Amino acid sequence: MEKVIIFSAPSGSGKTTVVKHLLQMRSGQLGFSVSATTRKPREGEKDGREYYFLTEEDFRARVERGEFLEHEEVYKGILYGTLISEVERLWSEGKAVLFDVDVLGGMQLKKRFGNKALAVFLRPPNKEVLMQRLRSRSTEVEHQLQERLNKAEFELGYEKDYDVVVVNDKLDETFQRCETLVDAFIAAP
Ligand code: ADP
Ligand code: 5GP
Repeated sequence: MEKVIIFSAPSGSGKTTVVKHLLQMRSGQLGFSVSATTRKPREGEKDGREYYFLTEEDFRARVERGEFLEHEEVYKGILYGTLISEVERLWSEGKAVLFDVDVLGGMQLKKRFGNKALAVFLRPPNKEVLMQRLRSRSTEVEHQLQERLNKAEFELGYEKDYDVVVVNDKLDETFQRCETLVDAFIAAP
């Protein structure tokens, strides 16, 4: 069966770290759905790898053309969206699709794919840890950091809507748990 795995988590929870790990460990079975965004690339990010970096004009034109499965203004003035073409590309390669999306996008995708989808909510042990991780990554300036923390508060309210919740405390344990979850989901009929 064609399957999808949705990962959502408040910014700074470790989602990128976990998703990258899974893609490395299960490269034959999983493929990453590269989203489109209007935010600027961070240092080290490459167009077409982490995201398709689009102008707002281009993004909105694609919305009009119906190219997205879902799209959200995740942060003020910054759009993110899941492209239908990514799912088609990965399914045609025989892979399950891995999504890294915010909670609203995650819920839309879960609704869309139903039991073809496993929705995983990753969260930090507590807010202090989240704050520390966000600061240590230091990719955001202070006002963006505050916006991300506010958003994290909002996102934490959605964990009950996900199929599974994984608390990201010790990273090696999180990796193990996620690998087990993914393997079981892929193996299921
Ligand atoms: P997200 O994609 O959810 O915003 P990242 O994967 O970028 O989060 O992680 C945020 C920061 O926290 C990174 O610097 C990452 O190395 C670190 N991190 C992630 N998981 C853990 C963990 N279990 N323990 C300690 N630090 C972690
Ligand atoms: P970042 O800017 O840190 O890469 O990502 C910010 C947030 O946008 C993360 O919560 C990420 O999961 C979310 N995101 C990335 N791509 C998409 C997408 O295609 N759709 C939605 N709804 N959210 C996305």
